[in-house]
Formats: sequence, C-alpha cells, structure tokens
Amino acid sequence: METKDLYKVLGVSRGASQDEIRRSYRKLARENHPDANPDDPGAENRFKEVQHAYEVLSNPEKKREYDEGPRPFFNPQGGTQGQYRGSTGGFTDVSDLFESFGSFGDVFGKAPRTAATPARGRDIRVSVNLKFKDALAGVTTRIGVPAEEGCGQCRGSGAAPGTAPKTCPECGGRGTKSLDQGFFALSEPCSRCGGNGRIIEKPCDRCGGAGRVRRNRQITVKIPAGAKDGMRIRVPGRGHAGEKDGPVGDLYVVTRVEEHPVFKRHGDDFVVGVPVSFVEAALGAEIQVPRPGGGSVRLRLPAGTQDGKQFKVRGAGAPKPRTEESGNLIVRVSLVVPKKLKKREREILEALAEERDEDVRAGLFREVREVGA
Ligand SMILES: [Zn+2]
Ligand SMILES: [Zn+2]
Repeated sequence: METKDLYKVLGVSRGASQDEIRRSYRKLARENHPDANPDDPGAENRFKEVQHAYEVLSNPEKKREYDEGPRPFFNPQGGTQGQYRGSTGGFTDVSDLFESFGSFGDVFGKAPRTAATPARGRDIRVSVNLKFKDALAGVTTRIGVPAEEGCGQCRGSGAAPGTAPKTCPECGGRGTKSLDQGFFALSEPCSRCGGNGRIIEKPCDRCGGAGRVRRNRQITVKIPAGAKDGMRIRVPGRGHAGEKDGPVGDLYVVTRVEEHPVFKRHGDDFVVGVPVSFVEAALGAEIQVPRPGGGSVRLRLPAGTQDGKQFKVRGAGAPKPRTEESGNLIVRVSLVVPKKLKKREREILEALAEERDEDVRAGLFREVREVGA
C-alpha cells in the first residue's frame, strides 16, 4: 500500500505554490525518466511516483482531498492509493515533458488524450499510376499531396497576428471539468473551450483559428526498379502535421502499375506465353523470346516439347526492389496447329501419318482409350 508523502516525493514543502510543484515535477520527471535511465530499473518506479504525486498535487480538488487526509469509509485498509490513483477521469499533464523528451509516446501510450497532449499527425496515403516500363526500370516522379501543415501566419496558434490564445478561465486550461460525485471524480470536456484548454478571441484570418492549413505539396518520390502493383512506399515525415507540436505523420505512396498485354507478373517472375508450331516442338528449335525490359533472350526448345511446358530464364524477370537480384522469366509454350494446309503440306502430313500408322483417311476416327488403361 502506498503511504509515501506526496510532498516528499516531489521534494517540496506542504505550503509549496503550484509553480514550485510544477518546477520540481518537471525536474524530477526528467531525471527519472526511464529513457534517460536505461540501466536503472528503479527509475521507472520513481518516475511513476513523481507523476502520480504531481497528478494529485497539481489538481486543486485532489490536493485538498489529500491534504484533508484519507476517507476511512471508502478505504478501510487505511491506504490512500485507491482514493487518488485513477479517480481523476484520467487527466495527466504531460505537455511540459514533451518539450524535453521526444519519445514519450511509449510511456504515456495508455494515457487518455487531453487538450494538452501532443498528437502525431495522421499518415497520408496516395496512389501513383505507373507505366509498365517505369515500374520495371524504376522512376523518380513528383506527386501532388494535399497535406495539412501548421499555419505560417499564426505559427499554428490559430490566433490573429499580435494576439495569443488565452487560457480558458472555465477549466483553467485543462480542457476538462471535474464533476465531484463523491468517491468517483468524473470529468467531462470543458464546454467553454471545447476541450482545447485555450480560447482564441480573434482567430487568424488565414487558417480561421484552426492553426492548420491544407496545402497541395509537390513531393518527389523514388519508385524502385521492379515496383509491383500495390506496393507501399513510405516517405517519413511527409504526412499531416501533428497537433500541439506532435510529430509529423508519414506519407505512403501506393503503386498502381499498368498491366502489360504479354508479360504477366507473378511475384518477381514474369510469365510469357510463346506460340510454337508443332513442327518446332517435335523437332526442337531455337526461339527468340522478348524480355519484359526490352530486347530478347534465345531459348533452345528440346525435340519433343509438349504443349504447356514451361522454361525458366534465370534473372530475366523483374528486379527485386532494393536488391541486386532479379526474378525469372517463365516461358510457357503453347502449341499452335495450322488452321489451313496447303496442298503440299497436306501431302507431307498424310505421308507422316502413314509412316506412323495413323490412318487419317479412314474417316479421321480413332478409338480413345481410357487414360492410364
Ligand atoms: Zn493561422
Ligand atoms: Zn475550458
């Protein structure tokens, strides 16, 4: 059970002002922050104690409750923990710490969002249409990205030049109002400031008081060679601006690659169908096969190649993005039977049939036996 004196935890006297409490809290929170003390397992506990003490002592209502002592009726075990911890509706003032620590999100990841909490800007997702050859060879392209950024005129404050947002008098800048319900102290967003904690009396005319403007940015994106359809390219820090000095979001560029009439992509391989006459297939032949990136590759078909047979040309497929390797080109043979025969061709084929005891003249009839019989 927690029995520590919260004033001692913060190293201040009972009569300390809110300013002193705040200063001491900032100092101790910085010193004991787990990120700053990776080798000290006790730091996190001290950090939590400091944070908890500040939560209580910075809140006038909770401070009064604490100063008046525990209420035995609600906590017969005599501890004070349950009375203060977690009974606040979740307000945690961490805005000052964010100024000193970039990586606070992890520690406070579970803390509820309040007016004072910086928030990371949202990510943006845009798609880019690519020609087949550009996706294959890689290309640097410029795309328009509508992104929110901090207003340059009011520097994000939302207040007209020469004026500044004022702390909301209704909630004292917290953005929330506590409703005392006895043991449970509930809180709700402040209606005066809409939970912002601040009031803008004269809004900036450029952003209308939002502190943010939407601008169409031209962003240069490098598409790696071999980019696939539906590939996601992350451009860090090119998303929407954060709120309350939170970090900028990321941009995700999704590729839309035009389909090729001949080359079909399978992973990093390309498949190409190649028509082969039955004579070439029967006798064997050397054929020229086009490559996806231009040019061609020679391929030797062995005698007796069957319809649908596939040959692999190593390394002639798509470059694997961000590697030195490439996929393969898969050549799929399809046998083509002549639709019409010249007289001389027919004679040759008939002679062949005779040679092979295939009696085509007897009405083109052949008994088909069950496969495998
Ligand atoms: Zn503005
Ligand atoms: Zn307010």
